[in-house]
Amino acid sequence: MRIAIDTHTHTVASGHAYSTVYELALGARRRGLKGFVLTDHGPALPGGTHPYHFSNMRILPDCMRGVRFYMGVEANILNLQGGLDLGDDYLRILHFAYAGLHEICFPPGSEADNTRALVAALNNPLIDAVSHPGNPLYPVDIRAVVLAAKENGKAIEINNGSFRVRKGSRDRCMEFARLCAETGTLVACGSDAHYWSDVGRVDVALDMIKEARIPRELVINATTASFEAFLSRRAAEKRAGALTTARI
Ligand SMILES: [Zn+2]
Ligand SMILES: [Zn+2]
Repeated sequence: MRIAIDTHTHTVASGHAYSTVYELALGARRRGLKGFVLTDHGPALPGGTHPYHFSNMRILPDCMRGVRFYMGVEANILNLQGGLDLGDDYLRILHFAYAGLHEICFPPGSEADNTRALVAALNNPLIDAVSHPGNPLYPVDIRAVVLAAKENGKAIEINNGSFRVRKGSRDRCMEFARLCAETGTLVACGSDAHYWSDVGRVDVALDMIKEARIPRELVINATTASFEAFLSRRAAEKRAGALTTARI
């Protein structure tokens, strides 16, 4: 299996990544990808984005060097209620939104607390997936998180960067992968590139997906068509969610 779209990449705007969006496009092209999602961190990480970074992304072209560009975010989960560091009006204009736990924004808590925060984020209609939920710093009830993703039609990320930078991730990521296969839960396979040459580098994550026997149909970014279908379903759900909120 290969991926067509890298769902998880960062630029200099994140404050601790080292390439521009154009360089990421060159990296995606070199890797033979059809597209990539720019998922810079939300504003709560030090030295990172301002909310305007996300609203102004619409000035960027849909296609760079023949590679499709998608607007996204890796929003920070801030509390047990799944509160995020990027407002709904910003999330609504993006194609794809991850929510994730990062130490500076959400100090690791008990398994119950970490699980509650991740499940709450998955219940947010404007969030599409959770990033690196297998991080061993944040023990969670893996079945509860997978089932929350399944019920909401959201994706669990198998993050290639975790195997380098979040030591000890392998066992928990494998458990996530096996449960996704068993329950038919969607998976996103992202590089978490913080440098252009890592865009599309998902070899270890793909090996895990294969070992866990996750079928291609569950990997939202395996093909451009599957990713576009996921985005258009989610966009309709986000619009419906907005209408429901407006009526309350
Ligand atoms: Zn992250
Ligand atoms: Zn990231």
